[in-house]
Amino acid sequence: MELTILCDNHTLIDRYYLGEPALSFYIEDGEKRILFDTGYSDVFLRNAEKMDIDLSGITDIVFSHGHNDHTGGFTALKKAYDLTGICVHAHPDTFKPKRHEGLDVGTPYHSEDLFPALWAPSAVPVQISEHLLFLGEIPRTVPFEKHLTVGTYLEKGRWRKDPVRDDSALVYHQGGTLTVITGCSHSGICNIISYAEELFHTDHVTDVIGGFHLMEDEKRIRHTAGFLRDHVWGSLVPCHCISLQAKHVMMQDNEVLEAGSGMRICWHENGKRSVEY
Ligand SMILES: [Zn+2]
Ligand SMILES: [Zn+2]
Repeated sequence: MELTILCDNHTLIDRYYLGEPALSFYIEDGEKRILFDTGYSDVFLRNAEKMDIDLSGITDIVFSHGHNDHTGGFTALKKAYDLTGICVHAHPDTFKPKRHEGLDVGTPYHSEDLFPALWAPSAVPVQISEHLLFLGEIPRTVPFEKHLTVGTYLEKGRWRKDPVRDDSALVYHQGGTLTVITGCSHSGICNIISYAEELFHTDHVTDVIGGFHLMEDEKRIRHTAGFLRDHVWGSLVPCHCISLQAKHVMMQDNEVLEAGSGMRICWHENGKRSVEY
């Protein structure tokens, strides 16, 4: 499997790709060409063009959750390419209206607007390609990540605290390798890793790449770093939504790789992994 960061908050020196506070990954696994999130604007399209990645060949789109910094770019994608028959996988709550700090932050269109792409919602795990599993709804099992919320969402006519039940992730499984690929991790990075471990009957994962949603909460950062030390045996590639402080704490016990638009990681069949910037 090969994963390219099409869009991240950060950019890489001398590459001149664009960044925005959003996330989009392009993943190739066998014959499948998967777009994991579409960023906020058309930045991921412009970067893909510059990287010589042909998005006309995508077979599937996966939305990690229904915030506009992960789903917003779909409108530009639909204008640029014929998406007839392409499956869009995400949790069923991905299109519920959401607000945060006075702003509308939900997906800025409706599920019907995905057409001619096909809406394939699922709250349970779904195999997307030979080695990639979409996790569906993440059970909240880790004590310090049981009650996470972000902003509010509209349900049955009322605005309620949003547990972001739609926040999901992918797992790449091949041989003994288990890599967790996240969008924002609103459901809790440790909850996501625990669920992957449960589904694959193991007590650790290899690598984790994506948003960690870890900012200023020092206690939570310490708890999370302790969990990652015990459960991640390879590398952490935190993107998009993480503070410098959280990275600093995690670096004391884990290998942490720098991420940015244009980074490419290849997981080879022999279990080895290579990184290009
Ligand atoms: Zn989000
Ligand atoms: Zn985000």
